[in-house]
Amino acid sequence: MQSIPLFIDNKTLLGSGKKFENYNPATGEVTHIVTSASPEDFEKSIESAKKGFKIWSAMSPTERGRILHKASALLREKNDELANLESQDSGKPIREALTVDVISGADCLEYYAGLAPTLHGEHFQLGSDFAYTKREPLGICAGIGAWNYPIQIACWKAAPALACGNVMIFKPAELTPLTAFKLAEVFREAGLPDGVFNVVQGDASVGQMMTAHPDIAKVSITGEVGTGKKVMAASATTLKHVTLELGGKSPILIFEDADLEEAVNGALLGNFYTQGEICSNGTRVFVHESIKEKFLEKLIQQTKSLKIGNPSNPETQIGALINETHFIKVMGYINLGKEQGAELIYGGNQIQVAGCEGGFFVEPTIFRSSDDQDKIVKEEIFGPVMTVMTFTDEEEVLSRANDTPFGLAAGVYTKDLRRAHRVVSNLQAGMCWINTYNINPVEIPFGGNKQSGIGRENGLAAIEHYSQLKTVYVAMKDLGNPF
Ligand code: NAD
Repeated sequence: MQSIPLFIDNKTLLGSGKKFENYNPATGEVTHIVTSASPEDFEKSIESAKKGFKIWSAMSPTERGRILHKASALLREKNDELANLESQDSGKPIREALTVDVISGADCLEYYAGLAPTLHGEHFQLGSDFAYTKREPLGICAGIGAWNYPIQIACWKAAPALACGNVMIFKPAELTPLTAFKLAEVFREAGLPDGVFNVVQGDASVGQMMTAHPDIAKVSITGEVGTGKKVMAASATTLKHVTLELGGKSPILIFEDADLEEAVNGALLGNFYTQGEICSNGTRVFVHESIKEKFLEKLIQQTKSLKIGNPSNPETQIGALINETHFIKVMGYINLGKEQGAELIYGGNQIQVAGCEGGFFVEPTIFRSSDDQDKIVKEEIFGPVMTVMTFTDEEEVLSRANDTPFGLAAGVYTKDLRRAHRVVSNLQAGMCWINTYNINPVEIPFGGNKQSGIGRENGLAAIEHYSQLKTVYVAMKDLGNPF
């Protein structure tokens, strides 16, 4: 059995923490043994990161960019190998992993590689005196990943952090430990100095070592809202910077003049991609009363054609849920939906997949609900479960769409230009789409409002979250005795 060690100082290190098994979610087969970081191992990662920071932060931004560019190119070269590993580790269809996960990570590295040499401060002329600002790195940043987009999350955190001259200690989710390790190997091959990107493995207890450590300047976590709150509270003891990319229960508003075909496409993409395990999914679909029958007819027709199967089969569109615990949670919500009186209009069943008897597969599921207080309407399920509600009035649907502690994303479908922008400006969400859904190129900032998060990933905005300003005042004339 292959073992996954830690990756510290550009070297693998057989950790001394507890060992755990890594499963293929599609088959239940144990594929690797992973070693968690013990507190002593974690201390080694800190010492290595300190040394790495001295070297990396002193390099010119162009040199840093060159290495990130190389890493991006290597990721693209290794796309097939890494995509297969990601699909095996996360249960997502290989057709998605081949076209999205690694490529999105590579795009992010490429974007920040180009941005690195452009980062600069400002100059302020103050009479004969002047001042300037320097944009400086924070130091050692901790990245903590979720299991749904493992390599993408690792890249979305590492790329802006490293571009700004920081170093990163990254902990992937314990359920998907494989590709962060591969990313570390890619960075080493690209010429990243020792200690600039270290990977520690483990569960929440290792995450807690990160949030508690006084030498860590910043924590960026992707995870559930509850976890984000714990991370923020723990980080407050040493007043670390935090970026929180958390969960959601996002709305899609489909008005009577929407292009119905496109609205159905958006609802499908925003609910069933990665078997519904996407933070920004538009799981509350509000459809105008006058088009609900046509919308549902098309929606069900297209959902029926989705192929559930072995994630390694290129035809498969709906893969395996991450594990049995998550499957029980998702099925629990489906049963609760039925009990609470929502109408199950499609799916709702576990599916047996030949050759994948040890995996947990759930049909794409559609509920119709007339009560926004239903738990399936209010709580994040993080599986292939969509709830459709109807509305008649713009103001009404806006207040219902905003009636949630989450604020990650939202979508609006209408051909009326003014309505589209008016609605978006009233939606309480960090990421809004007009006439599309879940498209996240690296150039644009991504992140949540309300309890869905703090800070932004991607775009120029992420630079603000991985750097700090130093202001320098320069006196060109004497101050003289002030008293
Ligand atoms: P999770 O919160 O259970 O775990 C996330 C990570 O945090 C894991 O690496 C875990 O080991 C670590 N962790 C758990 N407790 C910790 C603690 N007290 N201190 C430090 N680290 C701790 O989330 P998950 O189940 O891995 O992922 C699913 C969640 O992630 C969903 O809620 C989803 O919406 C969210 N998500 C958000 C985004 C986004 O960009 N906003 C993207 C993907 C997933």
